[in-house]
Amino acid sequence: MSVKAALARTTGNVLTWGLRRLAHRPAGNLPGKVALAIDPELIADLRSKLAVGSVVIVGTNGKTSVTNLVADAFEADGRSIICNRTGANLQTGVASALLQGHPAEWGVFESDELWLARTLPQLKAQYVVLLNLFRDQLDRCGEIRVIQDSIAQALKSSPSTTLIYNADDPQCAAIAEVIPNSTIAFGVDEPMGLEQNTVADASMCQRCAGMVSYHWRQYGQLGSYYCETCGFERPALDVAATQVNLGARELSFAVEDRRTHATATLTSPQSTPYLVYNLLAAWTLMEAVGIPTPVFQQAVDAFNPRNGRLQAYTVGSHPVLLNLAKNPTGFNQNLKIVEQDQSPKAVAFFINDQIADGRDISWIWDIDFEELASQPGTVVFAGGQRKNDLQLRLKYAGISAELVEGMEEVFAWMASTPGYKNAPAYAIANYTALPPVHEELDRLAQRNGEGVALAEAAAPAAAEAAESQATDELEVAESQAAPSQASTSVTADESAVPAEDPVPSAAPDAEQGTDPVRIVHLFPDLLNLYGDGGNVRALAQRLRWRGIPVEVEAVRFEDEVDLTQADLVFLGGAPDREQRLASQRVMAMKDELAAYVEADGVLLAICGGYQMLGRIWLLGDDEVEGLGILPMETKRPGTARERLVDNMVLASPLATRPVVAYENHAGRTYLDAGVEPFGTVLSSVGCGNSEESHADGARYRNVLGTYGHGPLLPKNPEVADWLLTQALERHSQRTGTAFAPLAPLDDSVEWAANDVMVQRLGVKSEA
Ligand code: GLN
Repeated sequence: MSVKAALARTTGNVLTWGLRRLAHRPAGNLPGKVALAIDPELIADLRSKLAVGSVVIVGTNGKTSVTNLVADAFEADGRSIICNRTGANLQTGVASALLQGHPAEWGVFESDELWLARTLPQLKAQYVVLLNLFRDQLDRCGEIRVIQDSIAQALKSSPSTTLIYNADDPQCAAIAEVIPNSTIAFGVDEPMGLEQNTVADASMCQRCAGMVSYHWRQYGQLGSYYCETCGFERPALDVAATQVNLGARELSFAVEDRRTHATATLTSPQSTPYLVYNLLAAWTLMEAVGIPTPVFQQAVDAFNPRNGRLQAYTVGSHPVLLNLAKNPTGFNQNLKIVEQDQSPKAVAFFINDQIADGRDISWIWDIDFEELASQPGTVVFAGGQRKNDLQLRLKYAGISAELVEGMEEVFAWMASTPGYKNAPAYAIANYTALPPVHEELDRLAQRNGEGVALAEAAAPAAAEAAESQATDELEVAESQAAPSQASTSVTADESAVPAEDPVPSAAPDAEQGTDPVRIVHLFPDLLNLYGDGGNVRALAQRLRWRGIPVEVEAVRFEDEVDLTQADLVFLGGAPDREQRLASQRVMAMKDELAAYVEADGVLLAICGGYQMLGRIWLLGDDEVEGLGILPMETKRPGTARERLVDNMVLASPLATRPVVAYENHAGRTYLDAGVEPFGTVLSSVGCGNSEESHADGARYRNVLGTYGHGPLLPKNPEVADWLLTQALERHSQRTGTAFAPLAPLDDSVEWAANDVMVQRLGVKSEA
């Protein structure tokens, strides 16, 4: 061992002792962090503590649960392990676990996706298990492709590592395709027959510039996919699940290792589709390392990590289920669990926006909260640092949610409301919002006498797929900034109609004989990564609330559209590849779009959509021709900052109050002289068009282009109503029917959400 390595080890050990003994902290990250600063190769050195080797679990959702389950199974099989069980999953967390653990046979580690590139080259694990890749923390990675590239790079740096991966996820299969490592593909070889959600990732082929098709889809982008253009398809499964039975109280399925013909049946007292994938991934690993199925099944039966992942409690006489959800796919899966329970119930959502959560919470507009609105007797509460945004999102889903600080207020409301005295409650929180709710429920359940073990609980059960609660959250937040590749009483509002989903299509709600206002949402299957569909939801709802009939037409990549019949056209943002593909369709409509704009058609274009309105936009060194509707160009200057990613507050002539939004883009847009921007940047953070511009977006006739996601319109109702006013004007010219001017709405929820960010970014409200 080198002197440097010895010094790093000693320092790490002393720090661990100090943190645990003196500061009573779990020391999950800091010792590793300091020791790695002394010896950056520390993990390679500490690897010698592991007699046999190691496995690393990565993936957006489910890694803490799978890591803990795998660790339990290794131990049940009599294998000694070192494991970062609490979910400190950065390089520092793995180093800390290795520093602190006694020499063992195996290392079982959870790793953050982007940090695998740092950890794996040193750890040289035998197996990496890749569970799935969903949109998550986009402020950190910009686009999902950045994560894919990083994971592929990590695996290339450790060619002896075998990748066990979810072949049902095209984004995982794309990684397996480009690495030299040996691979084991697992997947579910039959449709599970699940209801689909509005927004999914990876609608574009991973290999070519075509769209991907599905024989069947499970949830999110998982399923049996194929590309008609290039032949990319779900790889042949080495390990397959079939005969999936998602019962109300038990899950079972058959597994087969098609290479060895080993078969088994797995069961779990918890029953959700993502658990099928988690168990399948873990079983595949068990087969690889030779842990017998009965031992694994025992670990599954006994699994109860009590870390807030589908943790059940009894508080008073309420069965309570707590779970983590931190991205649209995780949230949508959670909503399905809630919806299984048809009884009157309380549901509380908690959303924070710390670094570890992702600063941008636009993704809440990609969750299908509308489903809850149709559940009678479901009362909804909103909590966490971004509770106002959540309340706003729920409002547009037709749900009136009261703001709460914690679960105690929810129970107080239930105690005083007939019909809810013994009703179940659900708490769903994102990453840093979870620990306080978890602690609160632990305390409340203890007051009750005892917490109830998961398997005995009355609430429907299962295990969420997601990252772990960081027990030493501060340390995580601190180190998670890098390595960034880019630099009461509530009642369901029965009168409210859930907003039409912008995807796949929305039915007209026009009264007979009245020509509705027509909103055209262009290519939501490609331009949908940053929550922009929320703008369409907002526009449609703000018309409905005023009794104005509206029809939303979601135009998919394959569809045709007639813009002469449109009153408002919406184009959202996207990663580069998707944007480029969508631009082919947009360019094919060039003349039609130009005519629409010149006839005072209303067009809102955000980020990627906005860039396409200019003469050219640059993708790397590639020039892509744009529509030329706005006199501007978009370039990639390759400055110190790869992407501009931040909150921003603008002053716009379209609004009397500050406009709040979130930007996340690599392109910088330069307006020709004389072009009106959407607004000037008031906040010290946020750039808009470019670092130098101090302005965002552009305006021309009824065209509004902006870098502002957020989504923009619900939090800036004046801008929404400006667009709608122009759309009504266009509608009356088009149809000869005039609707009354827009009646004022109660926008207090909108302004509260707006104001939180205005205050936080230090901008005066009277801008
Ligand atoms: N792909 C474009 C860019 O990075 C647009 C991104 C977006 O729409 N958020 O500049």
